[in-house]
Amino acid sequence: MKQTIKQAIAGSSADYTEIRIERRWLNRVLFQKEKLETLESATELGGIVRCLKNGGWGISVFNDLTNLSKHVREATQMAAIVAAATSEPVVLADVPTVEEEVRVELEHDFRDVPLQRKVELTQSYNGIILGESSEIVATQVQYVDRFAEITFANSDGTYLVQELPDITLLLGAAASDGKGDIQQGMETIGQAGGFEWVEGMEDRAQIAAKRAVAMLDAKPVVGGQHTVVLDPMLAGVFIHEAFGHFCEADFLFKNPRLAKIMALGNEFGMADLQVVDEGYIPGGRGNVPYDDEGVRREKTQLIKDGHLHSLMHSRETAAKMGAQPTGNARAVSYEYEPIVRMTNTYIENGTFSFEDMIKDVERGVYAVDAYGGQTEFEQFSFSAAYAYEIVNGEVGGLLRNVVLSGNLFETMRSIDAIGTDLKISGGVGGCGKGGQNPLPVTTGAPHIRIRNVTIGGK
Ligand SMILES: [Zn+2]
Repeated sequence: MKQTIKQAIAGSSADYTEIRIERRWLNRVLFQKEKLETLESATELGGIVRCLKNGGWGISVFNDLTNLSKHVREATQMAAIVAAATSEPVVLADVPTVEEEVRVELEHDFRDVPLQRKVELTQSYNGIILGESSEIVATQVQYVDRFAEITFANSDGTYLVQELPDITLLLGAAASDGKGDIQQGMETIGQAGGFEWVEGMEDRAQIAAKRAVAMLDAKPVVGGQHTVVLDPMLAGVFIHEAFGHFCEADFLFKNPRLAKIMALGNEFGMADLQVVDEGYIPGGRGNVPYDDEGVRREKTQLIKDGHLHSLMHSRETAAKMGAQPTGNARAVSYEYEPIVRMTNTYIENGTFSFEDMIKDVERGVYAVDAYGGQTEFEQFSFSAAYAYEIVNGEVGGLLRNVVLSGNLFETMRSIDAIGTDLKISGGVGGCGKGGQNPLPVTTGAPHIRIRNVTIGGK
């Protein structure tokens, strides 16, 4: 394989040539109510050639690996056509060449676990949720494992083989009061790890079911401006979705107004605010030893002491902005070219304990976990999975319909306390951008407190 790839690259007439070949394994088990809704077990093999000729990109995607040279020629021809039609030739920032094999060792390799066992485990969690209460009316319990072996080589001389494991478990419950009110409870687990991560989650299944039932008695939140404490999961989703995507350099090229706001050195929050994107943390779903351009992972400080410190780059955006590549060029699969993506993105620890954060809040909201959100440039809107009221410095009863919204930059400046309990979660699914979805990432934060957040009832 190595020789064939190297020969195909050596025979290329392009200015730059890269070949990425991926072998992927996937297993998916989904139970809804009592029913096994989906059972999928797939392997896939494919590749992509990307060539740069006269400053234009050309690509060729294929499943048949027998004639790599043909795909190199196709990509080069396309690149020449693109180059002739483009006014801004692409330049790539220089990076060190590497030759390395990065193999993973999983404690309990999920590839050795029979599919039957995966079905039984998923079914057992589903049974726990269904059995928790007669008010449980629906479940969604999904197990997914993925394993990718990626071979990457380019005409600079880099040759890499790396393995990326990914395992996720979704434990979802829906409860009904029989009068039309339906509430959810959800727990998620996501790791770049082995089967051991999804075993022994009976208590988490029970927690999801109990929360769905408890939410039936939750009070609707009173809309308005609130002091809000976000738990590490919701704060992590916030920093990824509302802020992180703006730090992807390719996004800024398309948005001159935001590019101005996102100028390095601009102030975004309190001096205690540190935000990073890190290409490796143990078990992190966003881990990429090398990105899909063969660039070694980095720890990129996006916000340092409250100021924008650096952006995330591919080789192309780095050259364009006179910056260093940061190992953030990622593709969701061999069918796509890499674009600038996050990896493991989190807010670093501050100085506040959770107790200190809430003790002087007379009335506020403690919002936990996210059921997804929307962003429209700097306007965001996130639904908390559940929430509690804060009354006279203490956590009180459950609240429902907590939807946080506002202007990202005003909201970041209104963060006035950052906790010491950083937690990073993989969740399930992943990040979507440019039609490439779901890309495994993790997000995290300690608890954070934000003043004057708009909360609307649903
Ligand atoms: Zn995202």
